[in-house]
Amino acid sequence: MSFTLAIVGRPNVGKSTLFNRLVGRRLALVDDQPGVTRDLREGEAKLGDLRFTVVDTAGLEDATDDSLQGRMRRLTERAVEMADACLFVVDARVGVTPVDEVFAEILRRKGTTVILAANKCEGRAADGGLIEAYGLGLGEPLRLSAEHGEGMPELYSILKPLAAEAEARIEETAPETDVDVGEEDEDGPRVPTFEKPLQVAVVGRPNAGKSTLINRLLGEDRLLTGPEAGITRDAISVRLDWDGLPVRIFDTAGMRKKAKVQEKLEKLSVSDGLRAVKFAEVVVVLLDAAIPFEQQDLRIADLAEREGRAVVIAVNKWDAEPDKNDKILMLREECERLLPQLRGVRLVTVSAKTGRGLDRLQESILMAHDVWNRRVKTAKLNQWLGAMVEAHPPPAPGGRRIKLRYMTQAKTRPPGFVVMCSNPKDISESYSRYLINGLRQDFDMPGTPIRLWMRSQA
Ligand code: GDP
Ligand code: GDP
Repeated sequence: MSFTLAIVGRPNVGKSTLFNRLVGRRLALVDDQPGVTRDLREGEAKLGDLRFTVVDTAGLEDATDDSLQGRMRRLTERAVEMADACLFVVDARVGVTPVDEVFAEILRRKGTTVILAANKCEGRAADGGLIEAYGLGLGEPLRLSAEHGEGMPELYSILKPLAAEAEARIEETAPETDVDVGEEDEDGPRVPTFEKPLQVAVVGRPNAGKSTLINRLLGEDRLLTGPEAGITRDAISVRLDWDGLPVRIFDTAGMRKKAKVQEKLEKLSVSDGLRAVKFAEVVVVLLDAAIPFEQQDLRIADLAEREGRAVVIAVNKWDAEPDKNDKILMLREECERLLPQLRGVRLVTVSAKTGRGLDRLQESILMAHDVWNRRVKTAKLNQWLGAMVEAHPPPAPGGRRIKLRYMTQAKTRPPGFVVMCSNPKDISESYSRYLINGLRQDFDMPGTPIRLWMRSQA
């Protein structure tokens, strides 16, 4: 838990630009079109020696009905509630608008710590707006140019004492959270202990139900779902707690096949999807039960494997499936056939809509993570290697038998093994596969990528 700053303001004032500047990696989308950024989004911000959490919000809209604007506003109020302080951004080039005023009033009423910022302050065009901003009654506006990086030292000197105050409060109340990740040799299932949140990405085709699923897991209307196409466009992360275990989930609506939105957004979204896979430890590939294992689903799963992530396949909309018994058999068969590189991967059926199966999904994520972290003792490995070679010796190209001498686990996350042997180049693909499948089965490592390297003894 760190100091949390919410960035709020109506659309187009430059919130995403500022968020990106603070977070430093492009987790957010920026575009000229108003309202492109609609969800809560978190990032780890860096400003000088300050590290804090920044939450970027949807635009504050002056609407109270259940329209999109109304929901965005509720979302923003929630962001303000979860933050220690709130950076209220206005556009100094446009000046103070009635919408700005309404929300200045809301922020005042909430009694939260507000830092007023007038953005786009580079150059003279901003002078008039800056003076208007004083009139909001929220103190002296901080002059910012998110785009040009102006005003960052001033922002730092405002945030520094606020952050120190918040940290002091947290230290008083927080329980001991440091836990051991445990690098020593051990067998069998480990009790998962994490010092950092477990990073999970939910990826899948548009309309697979990613936002619905994450809302369910969160138990609140944190993301917007609805019939509006492309409502969740970028990689966002949300944090939750599974019985005391901190989890961070990336939701991506990236990886869209058809450009329903502008191409520029499209490109950003796809790379956001890829980025989410890279950040993640466990990737949940969410399929739609009605159209499972489409080309795009397979590509995502393969990408996750190549990136060395733990993978769980979740088949969504199971509530709407008429013939569950036959379907599950078919899905299992297809999964083994189409994703041999992830043999034994956990396949769970869920309904994001009703919440059925989510406990099993949670359990599968933890198991996949556990397997991904598994370590096998060297003595056991070598005993095993001996038996494998005896059962099925490696080929003898040109009559020269290859000797597999020694084996050890070089890494975890995902598990990687080194076999010392004579003539490593002569080991065939199929023999490597034999060993990998054997490792998977005999040391109970289903569904995780396994790396195997053949090395000659120097
Ligand atoms: P948001 O809707 O509040 O998140 O706003 P964006 O970050 O998407 O920015 C809206 C537009 O304002 C984009 O075209 C940005 O390039 C532009 N913008 C953001 N910050 C600045 C700034 O400091 N100066 C100027 N001139 N333009 C900016
Ligand atoms: P995303 O594009 O992957 O984020 O998908 P959404 O979460 O927006 O869901 C797309 C559509 O599928 C929405 O109309 C949801 O109501 C619907 N949907 C999501 N999950 C389920 C489910 O478990 N069962 C059924 N029947 N419909 C679902």
